[in-house]
Order: sequence, then C-alpha cells, then structure tokens
Amino acid sequence: MGGVSSDSTQAYVGLGSNLQEPVRQVQRALEALARLSDTRSLRHSALYRSRPLGVAAQPDFVNAVAALETRLSPLALLRCLQHIEQQQGRVRHGVRWGPRTLDLDLLLFGEVQMQSPDLTLPHPDLHRRPFVLYPLYEIAPRLLIPGRGAVYELLTALSRDGLEVLNT
Ligand code: ATP
Ligand code: CA
Ligand code: CA
Repeated sequence: MGGVSSDSTQAYVGLGSNLQEPVRQVQRALEALARLSDTRSLRHSALYRSRPLGVAAQPDFVNAVAALETRLSPLALLRCLQHIEQQQGRVRHGVRWGPRTLDLDLLLFGEVQMQSPDLTLPHPDLHRRPFVLYPLYEIAPRLLIPGRGAVYELLTALSRDGLEVLNT
C-alpha cells in the first residue's frame, strides 16, 4: 500500500471471475489491488453472483467493484490490472465475454473521458451492466458517471434478475 497524496485520483475497478474457484479469485484480486504501488484501496462491494453475458454456456460469474485512490496514470493502472489478471492465470482466447479466471476492468478514473486503442473511459458498457452498477451503487450511491449520469438513475432502467449477493 503506497502513500497517496493530494494529486491522486479515485478510480473504480470491476472484478469478475467464473473459473477455478471464482470467489477465491476475486478475493485474491482484491488483495492484489490493495498492494499496488502509489495506490490505496478505499473500499469494495460485496461479492455478487451473476449470469454470464454473451456466451451463455459457461459458469455463472462472481463480480465485485473496488474503489481505489491512485497516483498512477490511467494507462499505468490498466497495465497493473492486466498484470494481476496474468498472475491469476488469465488466458486470452480472443473470445470476448468468454470464461476467465479473472477480469479486471477499469470502470472510471476520476472524471476522465478518453478513447484510445487500449483504454476507453468510462468503461463503454458500464452504464448498462447490472453486475457492475449494483455493486458500484453499493459503495458509491451518489456517484456520477461522466457523460452518462447518476448511478442511482441508471439503475432504475436495469433489472436485478440473475444478480445475487453472496455470503462470503
Ligand atoms: P468488456 O470490456 O466488454 O467487459 P472484456 O472485459 O471481456 O469485455 P477484454 O478481453 O478483457 O474484454 O479486454 C479487451 C481490451 O479492452 C483490452 O485489451 C483493453 O486494452 C481494452 N480496454 C479498453 N478500455 C478498457 C477499460 N476501461 N478497462 C479495461 N480494458 C479496457
Ligand atoms: Ca469485462
Ligand atoms: Ca476486461
């Protein structure tokens, strides 16, 4: 856990896993996030079980959202997230939304709005995903998503079906 000063930014990370003990994968990833340099882990949501998106013939996912305070740049933080994914055995098959041991999406980085080949902020589908918005609402009920609106308002358009809080 690094010391974090006033030039830091609040960032939100979405965690997901549906292979090889998903609850454990998400817990390990939360611990890894707390150890990132120049970054402090502020809080995280409960763990949620959700039905898979896209390719339906795969196990349910376990999801959570974490709030961080960081002095890293957006791209440096993304690289750190990808490193943690690799440490936890993420294999990239080229199938989007396929099964994975760990997926870490950078949901928000302060108020930053950007689009580059490697990084889009806010995460482009954040505002329509129940398994992201419900845990995000749990830890930041008044949060505004740049270009999209308030989390609590976006939620009213989304069903909670298939999303369940886990007792961990
Ligand atoms: P989705 O992004 O729709 O949730 P996914 O998580 O399955 O799909 P990945 O295969 O993990 O997609 O990532 C594909 C690419 O997305 C990565 O190579 C990364 O550079 C890019 N990317 C763009 N914006 C972001 C972001 N905000 N967070 C994480 N990755 C991002
Ligand atoms: Ca994702
Ligand atoms: Ca991802």
